[in-house]
Order: sequence, then structure tokens, then C-alpha cells
Amino acid sequence: MKRIYLDNAATTPIDPRVSKAMRDFELEFYGNPSSIHREGQVARAKIDSARANIAAFLNCKAQEIIFTSGATEANNLAIQGVISHALLDLAVKPHVITTMLEHQSVYNLIKELEEREVIEATFIKPDKNGLIDPDDVIRAIKSNTVLISVIFVSNEIGSILPIREIGKALSSLPPTTYNLKPLFHTDAVQAAKFCNLNVEKLGVDLLTLSGHKINGPKGIGALYIKSGTKIRPLIFGGSQEYEKRPGTQNTAGIIGIAKAYNLLGSLENRQKNAEKISRLRDELLEFLSNQKRVEINGPMGDNRTADNISFTILGADQELIISKLDLAGIAASTGSACVSGSTKPSHVIHALGKVGKKPAATVRLSLCRQNTQDEIKQVIKVLTRILQGTVS
Ligand code: PMP
Repeated sequence: MKRIYLDNAATTPIDPRVSKAMRDFELEFYGNPSSIHREGQVARAKIDSARANIAAFLNCKAQEIIFTSGATEANNLAIQGVISHALLDLAVKPHVITTMLEHQSVYNLIKELEEREVIEATFIKPDKNGLIDPDDVIRAIKSNTVLISVIFVSNEIGSILPIREIGKALSSLPPTTYNLKPLFHTDAVQAAKFCNLNVEKLGVDLLTLSGHKINGPKGIGALYIKSGTKIRPLIFGGSQEYEKRPGTQNTAGIIGIAKAYNLLGSLENRQKNAEKISRLRDELLEFLSNQKRVEINGPMGDNRTADNISFTILGADQELIISKLDLAGIAASTGSACVSGSTKPSHVIHALGKVGKKPAATVRLSLCRQNTQDEIKQVIKVLTRILQGTVS
């Protein structure tokens, strides 16, 4: 039985062209990029060229890209780095605004800093469709707000959040009484496949990327840090990555992530992919909308990312549903892979106000451009059988 892989929001298979580029690089360019001999300088030049490629994708300067071990670290560097600097500068406790839709690497970090009383935090609640009103974000700004962190595309329910609108509103705000202009960070990990990530147009100061969500390698990510942004490093050591992220670079990973971003192609190309994938998504969403006891999570229409299907089956057991799909050859997940193993609804599903006392199973199917109509038909067949068996 050929497996149907529908967990592309968790991770994607590496593109053979990416893995070849990494292998070729590793075998030939083994020098330490900080060394001054030729082997080191050649490796350094390759990293510089990879950095320039990522910068071109975001329409920023090469030196504004910092490579990290993944998006989790990039999110932590953005948030902890800005807060650490603010703690040096500011006489009052810094305030951070975020949303209830964030990935755990943002949500749990800001909760932790709030609990430790390092910061004050405001978590913006989405509407029942998982959307955020940009005015709610702007209204939450206080005189001590140092940072706003809003996810671009929800990894769980697929909502596309109004980053550009928030960026625009922020650009015309006067400085607060502490002479602050809140910095604006977005986790764009799930947005890279289809959205315009031109940082100037978005009006962001910090933006997070990951390699393995776009057919690149795992264990590599990047953070865009606009020139002049006041930020401290997360860890201390050498002067690599413009003194913002010490440690010998993961050179092959850097070559891999840059190649993966190159292969994503132009915005036009990405939008074409989105159209194709969203047709398959809509077929599944339509089927699911007509099922008793099934509720779709996240918005319908243009505000939903092309590859996400998230739904809840009322009265069903989450693990059992995922296992049944798995046994039928379909790889699905409950939501974020970063809390896999948890059988409880995530903070995102809670934020939609849907969690009641009765059991319910939340399922996320995330597509890619290699998925076919036949696969979707097979998924509908399997889901029909599961729904008949588990939902009385
Ligand atoms: N942010 C989002 C939106 C994600 O989907 C993920 C991956 N689940 C991450 C951050 C963390 O990425 P990484 O695995 O590169 O640390």
C-alpha cells in the first residue's frame, strides 16, 4: 500500500536537489568558515552566498540574516534578545503583545517570561474562525510595549494573519511615552511556501524561517533582524553570525536551507502552487463540512493557507483517529508536531472557544504539491469509514 503523507506542516521530505547540494558541499568544503586559510575562506564564501540568497527572498540585506538551529531558536532569539536589551534600557517592566495562535516556541516562551515576572504580556484572542483583528493588536500597545510577535500563518489551523496591516499601522504610530516604538516580529515558518515575505512591505523588524518545512534540511533556521534593531544574543561565545549567534555554523545546513528557498521560486510560482493545492484542500473541506459531528477549525476562503485542513470530530478519541488513519496508510497529526504525544487540545484549539467537557478529536491534514486527486479520494473514503465506525 502506497502511503499518503499529509503531515507537511510538521515536516517535509527533503528535495533530492537540496540533499545533493549539501552532500557535495560537505565533501568538498570542510573548512571552518571562521578560519583565515583558504579552506576556511571558501566555506565562508559559500555561506555568504547562501545568506545573500535568503536575503533576496526576503528583500533585505545579507547581513540582516542570522542562521540558527531552527525556527524554535530563531523565535527565542527574537523574543528573548529584544527583551534582554529592553531590560538593560528600560526603567519599567517590558510589555510584550502576542496572540493565542502562536507556535509553542513563542507561546510557551512568553508565558514562561510572564510567570517569572520578567515581562508583562498580552495574548490577543482570535475570533471563532481563528482570525486576529489588527486593531486589537494596536489597541493593546502600552507605554512600555517593546515587542509585538504575531504568527504569519497558523501551523495548526491555517489562518493567515494580517501582518502587513499590523506593520502598516505600527509605522504611523508615534513613539510611546518611554520613547519606544514596539519592534514587530513574525514567525513566518508556515507562510514561506505561498506568501510574499518582502520584509519591507510587511513592515517587520524580525522574521523567522525554518528549513525543514519547505523541503529543506532539519536543524537549520534563520532570523531576519532589521539593521539597527536593539537585540542581545541568546548564547555567548565567538563572533560568528555578526556576534548575534556564536558557534561554528552548520555549513551544510545553511547550503541546504538556501537551496530549498531557491527552489521555492518566485512569488508567482508559489501562488500557482497554492492554487493547485487549495483545490485539493477545498475538496476535503467540502466533504468534511457535510459530515455530522465534524467541525472545521480555522477560516474558510482566502484567509486560510492553501495546504491546511483542520477539523474536530466531536465524541471521538484523538489518538484512535490518528492511529486508524495511520493503519489505513495516511500520515496525519493532531495539530502541532511539537507537542506530539499530547492527547489534550492545544492552546490554539482552546483559544477558538471550542473545547467542551466531552471528548473530541482534532485532526490536521497538511498537503503539498505532490498530492494527487486520487489520494484525496482515498482519504475521503477512509474518513467516511472512520466516521461511520467511531461516531455513533
Ligand atoms: N513555528 C512554526 C509556525 C512551526 O510550524 C514550527 C515547526 N512546528 C516552528 C516554529 C519550529 O520550527 P523548528 O522545527 O525549525 O524549530
